[in-house]
Amino acid sequence: MNVTAYEALLYEKLPNSRVRCNICQWRCTIGPDKLGVCKMYQNRDGSLYNLNYAQASSVAVDPIEKKPLFHFFPGSSVFSLGGWGCNFHCQDCQNWEISCVEIAEPGRGSREIQPQEAVELAKSYHCQGIAWTYNEPTIWFEYTLDSAKLAKENNLYTVYVTNGYLTPEALDTIGPYLDAWRVDVKGFSDTLYRELAKVTRWREILEVARRAKDKWKMHVEVVTNIIPTMNDDDQQLEGIASWIRDNLGELTPWHVTRFFPNYRMMHLPPTPVSTLEHAYDIGKKAGLKFVYAGNVPGHQSESTFCSSCGRLIVSRSGYQTEVLGLEGSRCKFCGAELNFRTSGAERRLS
Ligand code: SF4
Repeated sequence: MNVTAYEALLYEKLPNSRVRCNICQWRCTIGPDKLGVCKMYQNRDGSLYNLNYAQASSVAVDPIEKKPLFHFFPGSSVFSLGGWGCNFHCQDCQNWEISCVEIAEPGRGSREIQPQEAVELAKSYHCQGIAWTYNEPTIWFEYTLDSAKLAKENNLYTVYVTNGYLTPEALDTIGPYLDAWRVDVKGFSDTLYRELAKVTRWREILEVARRAKDKWKMHVEVVTNIIPTMNDDDQQLEGIASWIRDNLGELTPWHVTRFFPNYRMMHLPPTPVSTLEHAYDIGKKAGLKFVYAGNVPGHQSESTFCSSCGRLIVSRSGYQTEVLGLEGSRCKFCGAELNFRTSGAERRLS
């Protein structure tokens, strides 16, 4: 198999040629020649290697709203890169063709894009930033770190679209070079995370998201894909909404998105729009100022209205975005703070 091996940054050597990977919360202990849970890190002769460095599965120029990020450089184009593999095994995965694989195989359409080329491509396509998206960025952590450093030197913004399962030390390693943390909070119970993603330490996701905001001053937006019978109960939705309010702040955008049958969840129906609207109401009732229903083209909650004066601030229809009422992060009509980031893509270090 023709893949590039790159020594991992965050691991410990253990007795008997074993290693412990400290990139994500699995903290896999890996024996000689074995792979971690994500299948993208391998123990070779007592050292840990990433098998996926610079091996892109997907490359596109996207509107930033597609991530979705609604309060971050609205209307901008972002150079979007996906790799291979994942540390979760979600039953509803929308990108399972690239996430549920063992290693990057050239025959599958892998394309090598070194960090310098990624930055050059982003600039040549007039993108304002780079996003690591489509699959979990953690799984090619060293590549995203090298790329993020170069992106910041070139005044591009940087985005992780993530399940949020990084360790605090991995976050602290890449934190100085990341501007936005678009994190999934898939539900709010042990049962949900175990059944949907086969993950138990899900509460660490919340701690790391808070750390991204507090310690590294990242812009944070949260997505919950609402799946009928899995996470559409009031208890979980209220739990997520109140956690966001209390830990990330009432101005943090919460995207409640529509599930469509996919992968191993073909037996469930698409989420009724009324369920999304109920989740929207729960978010608003909890005090969140910006709740958006996603995957429902034309829905009235697509646009942003000022939480103070009610004027239209950003008009959205599908991926057509028009900024009408922003002055920096504030409403240009009444001056209210709306938690938008529209500048500061230049190099940001702690
Ligand atoms: S990144 Fe992969 S190998 Fe490392 S701890 Fe996570 S799942 Fe395990």
